Amino acid sequence: MSDTPRIHLGSLLRASEDAHAEGELTELTYEQGGATQTLTFTEPAWYEVDINSLSNDEMYLQGQFSPTLVMECARCLRDVAVPLDLTLGTLMRYEPSADAPYLEEAESGEDVLVFGDPDLDLSAYLAETTVLAAPLSVLHAPDCKGLCQVCGHDLNEGPCEHMAQVPVEEIDDHLGVPEGSAHAKQNPFAALKDLDFPEE
Ligand SMILES: [Zn+2]
Ligand SMILES: [Zn+2]
Repeated sequence: MSDTPRIHLGSLLRASEDAHAEGELTELTYEQGGATQTLTFTEPAWYEVDINSLSNDEMYLQGQFSPTLVMECARCLRDVAVPLDLTLGTLMRYEPSADAPYLEEAESGEDVLVFGDPDLDLSAYLAETTVLAAPLSVLHAPDCKGLCQVCGHDLNEGPCEHMAQVPVEEIDDHLGVPEGSAHAKQNPFAALKDLDFPEE
């Protein structure tokens, strides 16, 4: 199971000793705007983090994180696996008064990870880095047909009675289509063959 990704920075802060942490994550839970968010991965995602002291309260984090993120297809909402390969590199600053760790933009424009607890929880940092690297939206296939706007049927699995391919005047005739005819067909055109077009 997934543990919280933590790195212990007590001896780094006391004696400038380098710190290292590694492990696997099947998900990342973090707080955002008062709500708990979860990123889910298709398989345990490896992370490795090294932190080196730069000065009394500044340090540099380097590492790797390779999650395969579960996202929703923007059209049909089914799960899509999005593999990411992240190279981590971030300045850090220890501020005992800081509550939860957060990213702050430095004058240089670089992000600085500010933290107050030497037992540093990397969840929010890894989650934010993952979200920034992930595409805004994905399709499970380039030609995803999406969901019917009327009934929510997944049109990749076949047509429903609302499909635009069925002329509007036919819709009423086919609302009573028997179970398992239109919806069971994988090929959207297979169902059209079964429609009883008026003889005249
Ligand atoms: Zn889709
Ligand atoms: Zn429909």
